[in-house]
Amino acid sequence: MGTLAQYRDRPHWSFSALNQFFNICSLQYAFDRVYRLPKTFTPVSLSFGSAFHRTLEWVGLTRMEGRVPAPAETADLFQTLWTRQTQEDTDIRYDEDMDADTCANQGREMAACIVNNIDPDEEVVSVNEAFAVPLVDAMGVALETPVIGEIDTVVSKAGRKSLVDWKTAGRRWPKGKADLDWQPTVFLYGYTQKHAQTPEFRFDVVVKNKTPVFEQHVTTRAPDQFLRLAELAKLAESMIAAEHFCPNEQSFYCGGCPHQDACKSWHRDRTKARVNMAA
Ligand code: SF4
Repeated sequence: MGTLAQYRDRPHWSFSALNQFFNICSLQYAFDRVYRLPKTFTPVSLSFGSAFHRTLEWVGLTRMEGRVPAPAETADLFQTLWTRQTQEDTDIRYDEDMDADTCANQGREMAACIVNNIDPDEEVVSVNEAFAVPLVDAMGVALETPVIGEIDTVVSKAGRKSLVDWKTAGRRWPKGKADLDWQPTVFLYGYTQKHAQTPEFRFDVVVKNKTPVFEQHVTTRAPDQFLRLAELAKLAESMIAAEHFCPNEQSFYCGGCPHQDACKSWHRDRTKARVNMAA
């Protein structure tokens, strides 16, 4: 069984690539993954999310050893990992009224909040389970490029398994968001291909309120949605081959986009982008 890093060594699709291409901005996808432009800054959400994710990885592994970590030690670990992250990502762009210290305090409270909401009857089966599986369309044809991913945790309670993904959010999730999100589709597809069963998928979300709020959003997927996923990947492949990239400039994502300068001159600099791609 390979690791995500090994699966990344060859061409692949992932939830984040498909989501970026179709739901965020196909031009941002091109700047990142086709033309490979350097990022002009690191959005704070990325750095904060990395430190938070590593903290929860440790929480999951500790639970697998039969111990639920205390909120205070989890908060301390977040602080250590956050400090390390701010040293690695020296070009972090903070939101208004935020800096490294306010993020540290917020992260400490959020880490404690998620541990406080752990169900003691729930057992952790695996942490960071990676998959790389072929995408198969409605005609039964497998795409050349596989889809890969890494499941944060698989948990089990009363014999029922769930895939769990950890999220931080600026606001409470609207009803139905989990049912529309493509991450459960990709991850449940990968898990089904590996294990021949489709469990539930759950988002464990900590909302960055003054006092953090913990939410769980459960969803699942039907086989037909997996076929649709392969069709979307095929569509993306044909659009990428034709360089059909489109700025999504009314999107919420532009403010945190590290390619804003390249985006402004995109309609004049397309030749330059092609040169970068060939390099
Ligand atoms: S600034 Fe907005 S439109 Fe331009 S590439 Fe970034 S996300 Fe896309």
